[in-house]
Amino acid sequence: MSTFWAAAAHLPDGLAADVTFQVTDGRFTAVRPDTAPGDARRLPGVVLPGFANAHSHAFHRALRGRTHGGGGTFWTWREAMYAVAARLDPDSYRALATAAYAEMALAGVTAVAEFHYVHHAPGGVPYSDPHAMRTALRTAAAAAGIRLTVLDTCYLAGGFATPLEGPQLRFGDRDAHAWAERAAGADGVAVHSVRAVPRDALAVVAKAADGRPLHVHLSEQPAENAACLARHGLTPTGLLAAEGVLGPRTTAVHATHLTEADVAQLGGSGTGACFCPTTERDLADGIGPARALQDAGAPLSLGSDQHAVTDLLEEARALEMHERLATGERGRFRPAELLAALTNHDPLGRPDAGRLAVGAPADLVAVRLDTVRTAGTDPAQVLYAATAADVDTVLVDGRPVVEGGVHRLGDVGALLVSAIGALR
Ligand SMILES: [Zn+2]
Repeated sequence: MSTFWAAAAHLPDGLAADVTFQVTDGRFTAVRPDTAPGDARRLPGVVLPGFANAHSHAFHRALRGRTHGGGGTFWTWREAMYAVAARLDPDSYRALATAAYAEMALAGVTAVAEFHYVHHAPGGVPYSDPHAMRTALRTAAAAAGIRLTVLDTCYLAGGFATPLEGPQLRFGDRDAHAWAERAAGADGVAVHSVRAVPRDALAVVAKAADGRPLHVHLSEQPAENAACLARHGLTPTGLLAAEGVLGPRTTAVHATHLTEADVAQLGGSGTGACFCPTTERDLADGIGPARALQDAGAPLSLGSDQHAVTDLLEEARALEMHERLATGERGRFRPAELLAALTNHDPLGRPDAGRLAVGAPADLVAVRLDTVRTAGTDPAQVLYAATAADVDTVLVDGRPVVEGGVHRLGDVGALLVSAIGALR
């Protein structure tokens, strides 16, 4: 058994003072406010549940700070992404994912859902081990010390009525049934988008999910909506609803350009919505209707997606700040609602995690309140001031992954430089 103590902690009922945490076999066995530290290990600042990163493409980390020269669009950004995807092999994928996941741990992420679609060798030729790329991700997450939910992504077409071509070939399978066979051992599944999965394959993916988390990129760009309407006479949300893809186990990622009927359909079906605000602003996607979705019944979660920024505190803050810009109102989300999105582990298939409570996995994040960014901050409002650089300690299963702002693998910057450099 190990024991930790914090002067402030966000418990399920709200902010508490002088909290002792007892951990046995990776789970909290006691969480007691108003206690003396005794000989417990003291955690600095304010303690939060571990952050859930509900949407990641680990290899996109190689694109940070390299796609802004000519302006461009979402679609020109995608060409740069394909160029990186074309160079990956299981070893370089593992090295890059290890560094990217370690960077996430430094930012307080204790669990990540990887929307994984680089399945095969270039040209679409399966590796001798058909799960080589998935295994690379699992090895990476284990080294980085964070929980991983691999979402095996179905990706069968280059666009509506367009076959896969060039770098996309390695994302694809012969058909939806071949995909489902390989995806059987994954933690969850995904529909890449209504662009990349033909209508007749959507129900196959929904059935193959079989109770596992099911994610889908949804209406990130207006062009996708226009093409879907032209092809099917339905919005992407309408199409997913018609094919049985929506529901409480499903997470719609981005959900940016929605009609009122789409919002009602997503909320009414209990489908979750994962916002990735730093990616959505980086790619000039737009600001999705986060408040309206939550009010309609769609639980919110957060993702760092392409990792233009790896700072889940910033994603949580941006959920509110983007709403402020879009509506001219402050306080669109209460702090507790932002924290709920930041720690929502349901889309990762881990509903027991994300709470500082007896029985939950002992995953927590201690954020300093004495740095140049956070000094003077009310611990109740830490989400409005702190950044990833203020994360001091991260425990997963009660074991330290980050201590004093240092990851157990050491210099994560050096890991990133080496892993990204190998792809150039
Ligand atoms: Zn994505």
